[in-house]
Amino acid sequence: MLHDPPARRIDYLRVSVTDRCNLRCRYCMPAAGVPEVSHHDVLRFEEIAAFVAVAAGEGIGTVRLTGGEPLARLGCPELVRQLRAVDGVREVTLTTNGTLLPRYAPALREAGLARVNIGLPSLDPATYRHLTRGGALEDALAGLAAAFAHGFSPVKVNVVLLRGVNDDPAPFVALSEQLPVEVRFIEYMPIGPVAPHRYFVPADTVVARLQAFGPWEEVDPLPGAGPAGRAFRRPGAPGRIACITPVSDHFCHWCNRLRLTADGRLRLCLLAPQEIDLKPALRPQPDPEALRMLLGRAMREKPWRMADTTVELGRRMSQIGG
Ligand code: SAM
Ligand code: SF4
Repeated sequence: MLHDPPARRIDYLRVSVTDRCNLRCRYCMPAAGVPEVSHHDVLRFEEIAAFVAVAAGEGIGTVRLTGGEPLARLGCPELVRQLRAVDGVREVTLTTNGTLLPRYAPALREAGLARVNIGLPSLDPATYRHLTRGGALEDALAGLAAAFAHGFSPVKVNVVLLRGVNDDPAPFVALSEQLPVEVRFIEYMPIGPVAPHRYFVPADTVVARLQAFGPWEEVDPLPGAGPAGRAFRRPGAPGRIACITPVSDHFCHWCNRLRLTADGRLRLCLLAPQEIDLKPALRPQPDPEALRMLLGRAMREKPWRMADTTVELGRRMSQIGG
């Protein structure tokens, strides 16, 4: 089992399969995008699987594929298949903007993908287009429909809030009253390119607005609830609402995760610059013993809490994977 010095159990790995994306969300990337990792530097699926095999041997049971947009990389279902075949991996999940899900959902399901989280920052076509710099809401909604049609469960919807842009919860409350989704309102983290003093909305503000809709019932956390610990639903509604509060209420004390970037670095904390380069232990051939040593080093060096936001973090969200 992997434990770090404060005795947090680390059993969850987020794998960014690409830093590329077909959208340019304002809270995630600058308009011009970010410098892309060269093809040579991007880990091959076999290299990812070799690391996951070592990590699973040490207690990593859940692997989440993310990006960039993971489905923008060809062959994602094949990666899911390889990871599902690793001893010790209990589930493989996916975080996606959903726009390519209609194309890949059947193959992903067949490959053994368990669940999907879909980034869907607005249900209004113009606001969605504005927030994603050109994305079409209908594509993301088709992705949401595909997730249900192919039996992924539960389906979660990620809504990064920007003040005055998409911070009216009403459409998402309505969505939770129609579909068995979990809507997760996420506080904007200052790793993104827009100015936090202008756009940050604390979760408390959203909670106060939600109270105006009438009574809510607290419901049990879903599998992999992670930082969205508590969830609520309107009486009788199939869906639910949760808030993720990385800024107003850090959840570092029970962090359970590591992150692997597309260029093969183990990121020890989302909001701290420390990384360990795995490439020397992966190329020319994966060396399990060397990878195990680097995992041990990761446990010793994993920060106890997020850096304060004035620290240079070295990467944008799309280069880490959320
Ligand atoms: N492209 C996929 C997507 O959009 O879901 C996966 C990668 S994206 C970097 C992963 C998640 O990061 C998104 O779902 C979004 O909720 C979150 N995210 C991006 N920028 C953020 C920010 N500045 N603050 C908080 N969450 C952010
Ligand atoms: Fe792309 Fe996801 Fe970032 Fe939006 S949040 S730009 S979809 S990586």
